[in-house]
Amino acid sequence: MSEAKANIGVVGMAVMGSNLARNLASRDGNTVAIYNRSVEKAHAVAQAHPEANFIVGESVQDFADKLAKPRTAIIMVKAGGPTDAVINQLVEVFEPGDIIVDGGNALFTDTIRREKAVSETGIHFVGAGISGGEEGALNGPSIMPGGPAESYETLGPILSSIAAVAEGEPCVTHVGTDGAGHFVKMIHNGIEYADMQLIAEAYDLLRNVAGLSADEIADVFTEWNTGELESYLIEITAEVLRQKDAETGKPLVDVILDAAGSKGTGVWTVQTALGLGVPVSGIAEAVFARAVSSKPAQRAAAADLPGPAQAVAIEDRAAFIEDVRQALYASKIVAYSQGFDAIIEGAKEYDWDIKKGDIAKIWRAGCIIRAQFLNRITEAYAQDNDLVVLLAAPYFTDAVTKAEQAWRRVVVKAVESGIPSPAFSSSLAYYDGLRAERLPAALVQGQRDFFGAHTYRRIDKEGTFHTLWSGDR
Ligand code: NAP
Repeated sequence: MSEAKANIGVVGMAVMGSNLARNLASRDGNTVAIYNRSVEKAHAVAQAHPEANFIVGESVQDFADKLAKPRTAIIMVKAGGPTDAVINQLVEVFEPGDIIVDGGNALFTDTIRREKAVSETGIHFVGAGISGGEEGALNGPSIMPGGPAESYETLGPILSSIAAVAEGEPCVTHVGTDGAGHFVKMIHNGIEYADMQLIAEAYDLLRNVAGLSADEIADVFTEWNTGELESYLIEITAEVLRQKDAETGKPLVDVILDAAGSKGTGVWTVQTALGLGVPVSGIAEAVFARAVSSKPAQRAAAADLPGPAQAVAIEDRAAFIEDVRQALYASKIVAYSQGFDAIIEGAKEYDWDIKKGDIAKIWRAGCIIRAQFLNRITEAYAQDNDLVVLLAAPYFTDAVTKAEQAWRRVVVKAVESGIPSPAFSSSLAYYDGLRAERLPAALVQGQRDFFGAHTYRRIDKEGTFHTLWSGDR
């Protein structure tokens, strides 16, 4: 009797791969083969989860033999070289028509390169961004697959069955060809950086200007989570703030070293956006803020530089808390608007047909930036997929109009108090830059023409001009 074959395989049995494999195995109709470079880890996962009925591949060849044709395998290994190594091994044992999915956090340009190389063998290659961490992988992530549309016909139903569900819809869509899925996942992570930094700045102001305790701020965030700011990140922030340190009894946040790390997707977002000429200032400030936090020697050297000894007084604490909420909401809108700008420019550059409304939809559940507010983005792009800038959609224009004065008051209080609020203030500066009738860029053009004959255009006639400046001799 021939052995039952698996309809899907997972390579990489660390936390993400094993959870994704368990998620797949829990869905009706799936038989899952698993493989790991250190095979004993695959056996350990199979033993720990007998309900999953995993079929363990003893080698890459054995793994391929245990998959029904056309074979479909999802790779969940360390990004970079390890992913290339596994792809090369699978290409050796797979056949034309089979599908290799990279579900790791690959840089989208690597995915473009890999798709090109793998597709030459007749094997399909799909780079799929998977968000939601280990909990999402197990219970339902937000999935952003790229690659050929043809492979999505086989892959779509499998991914839909394991994805998170928002308002009855699975959080997965074919984003576009080759690297589109990983590109959009990268922007998702960039927005996540900005969202986290903005929440952290709100916390800092509530703690040090409003004088609230960690528990009181947790209550404020819990309250905010019932309104337009409702989101996973606000929800977990309240929980983080309520957590007490078992050793000291203090709020845990007070004993955690204030040096934030990162794994690189925020940096990729900013580097890519710089190349595309898209100002993602909220995301960039979030990346920079983590970098500043992680420079103990510089911080120690600068610790005695002058600044306000204490925060400025506020007259009405409740009003200030509401101002901070408004500033957070407006800055968050800017961060998303900038993120979608990067998607628009990336799509132009790499020739992807990305439906922005669908992206907002698949971020509504399963991923770290899941939020009520994403419905408003979907609606904005449903009304006008060619929207020039998200900020100009009626809902968001109304929202920032309501928040604008509060936003300014908060940034002023932060500056006067010497409390760094780079994401709040850069978002406001971006907003003012966009809305300005006239920018000092005219002077910059004058300077450029002065020293480099870079020419300029005029407001009153067509053409390019160069001036023989009085100092240009
Ligand atoms: P990981 O720590 O990034 O990688 C460990 C896995 O990679 C192990 O299965 C390991 O096999 C394998 N591996 C390493 N080098 C290898 C090589 N040269 N050849 C073959 N296999 C190799 O695992 P993870 O945290 O579960 O993440 C997996 C992927 O998901 C990564 O790309 C990560 O960026 C992405 N991701 C992670 C999260 C998260 O929250 N952790 C969220 C989203 C996406 P051995 O056991 O043999 O060493």
